[in-house]
Amino acid sequence: MKFADLHLHTHFSDGTFSPEELTGHGARLGFAALALTDHDSVEGCARMAAACGAAGIEFITGTELTAEHNDTELHLLGYYVDPQNQKLLTEIAKFQSVRQDRIREMVARLNGLNIPLEAESVFALANCKSPGRPHVARALVKAGLCKTPDEAFERFLKKNRPAWVPKAKMFALEGVELIHQAGGVAVMAHPGLNRTDEIIPALVDAGLDGIECFHTKHSTKTAERYLEIADKFHLLVTGGSDCHGFSKGKPLIGTVKLPYEHVERLKSKVESRGSSAAPVGSR
Ligand code: AMP
Ligand code: ZN
Ligand code: FE
Ligand code: FE
Repeated sequence: MKFADLHLHTHFSDGTFSPEELTGHGARLGFAALALTDHDSVEGCARMAAACGAAGIEFITGTELTAEHNDTELHLLGYYVDPQNQKLLTEIAKFQSVRQDRIREMVARLNGLNIPLEAESVFALANCKSPGRPHVARALVKAGLCKTPDEAFERFLKKNRPAWVPKAKMFALEGVELIHQAGGVAVMAHPGLNRTDEIIPALVDAGLDGIECFHTKHSTKTAERYLEIADKFHLLVTGGSDCHGFSKGKPLIGTVKLPYEHVERLKSKVESRGSSAAPVGSR
């Protein structure tokens, strides 16, 4: 059996692995295909494509966008997007800039709580254009202000905690369109985490192509429910670990193994659209 992991993060967003390290783990685990889905970024795709190429792994370009529809937050995975697509890059750059402002705002709130963290130390640690809460958490630990990133989330960064700042989101229907115009397929990420069931029909009407049924945080029962929903709405099925690095001493990649037939179907969808966006580095 051939397997894929279609939800992975590197240090080009809030993951801790480099594209090469992540590919190394994927190769060791025997994956046939990997997709990189950094938040608001396609920057790591070229390096990941090269590493996968050298390891004999099929690579799929991707990104993960934060969106909303009727006040429900959802994450959109864009696969096979053209990493040179100008509109995609312009939108991504906007969201990256807002992410950087958000870090400054979170740090200001921490400072208001007499937590002497500096924004520059977060940016230095993040060392990427898409910084997020995990970087603030790690910077708090590094500065000796929290014992663990989990403690940082619990005390300060979780939703409605004192240093939490809401994240800018794009409108979901525009997100789907943004991915499509970049030659990609749009997939709803981890619906079981965002509780997005009610908005699935509206997104399907807007052209949503698929749904992430398999995810580290989906139980077998949850995965089965979304497989039924995928069937009902004729959606493609995807899955991935959402690996951000080590979790409990082990890389999270490997916890979800998507049967390769689903990758074939994703590819058929892209090809049937006559997309000009060649999957970077694949074949
Ligand atoms: P952000 O995009 O800046 O809002 O950060 C979201 C990321 O933070 C997610 O992708 C997770 O990796 C991480 N995260 C969210 N909630 C928690 C939590 N309670 N504990 C640890 N990490 C979390
Ligand atoms: Zn993340
Ligand atoms: Fe997500
Ligand atoms: Fe993710």
